[in-house]
Amino acid sequence: MNTMYKAMGAAVAVALGTFSVAGDLMAADDELEDWQKAQKTEVWEPVPPKVTAEPGQPPSDATVLFDGTDLSAWESVNGGEAKWTVKDGVLTVKPGTGDIKTKQSFCDVQLHVEWRAPKPEADMEGQERNNSGVFLQQRYEIQVLDSHESKTYPNGQAASVYKQSIPLVNATRAPEQWQEYDILFTAPRFDGDELTSPAFVTVLHNGVVVQNHYELTGKTEWIGAPSYEAHGCAPIQLQDHSNEVSFRNIWVREIKPLK
Ligand code: MG
Repeated sequence: MNTMYKAMGAAVAVALGTFSVAGDLMAADDELEDWQKAQKTEVWEPVPPKVTAEPGQPPSDATVLFDGTDLSAWESVNGGEAKWTVKDGVLTVKPGTGDIKTKQSFCDVQLHVEWRAPKPEADMEGQERNNSGVFLQQRYEIQVLDSHESKTYPNGQAASVYKQSIPLVNATRAPEQWQEYDILFTAPRFDGDELTSPAFVTVLHNGVVVQNHYELTGKTEWIGAPSYEAHGCAPIQLQDHSNEVSFRNIWVREIKPLK
């Protein structure tokens, strides 16, 4: 149907009182070229902010939590300064000084952490084999452990959501090698004391997906089943499990809806 007849048809529809919005859109669409129809589903606002992301560097909009120089972004969970060791650009657990946590609180995040287990002593096996951990919101632990060639319960091995979710594969490198965690965490939501949306986590271990949008059942527990307790945004915490596990290149990006 050519354009003239379509226009006439629309005029007749109006005259007969049968004109409808849907009919109008359909009639109008019929008159358009394909490229014009395609334009109708183009969304031009909002425009994503520009971020530079150079190889091996934190993205330009990241909050750098440890760049090898100092622990100014951290404090001890026991109060006061973080007492772990910083040497040659590397952060290492100082056993007995306690966990450290970021001064800043976070909700939904993309977190990058690099860690290294030292050479194990001969009698170190399982959970004793250079254990640490990355706690999201001080409650939800992604296990750090030398699980290269050391047996433990799989829901407690490296890259497990501790005591909740076994990693899909074991991507652990040998001791003394640097390893990477890239973690996408969606914080739980609460309405007062009531959970309205659980936490979800995706973890890449050395670039390999090991947790895929796992729905957490609550905060990490060593003994007993996990459950949720209401909380707001909270710090990221690294675990002192009495082993000299090292960290470097720690950065975080807050994930916020595009405006
Ligand atoms: Mg641990």
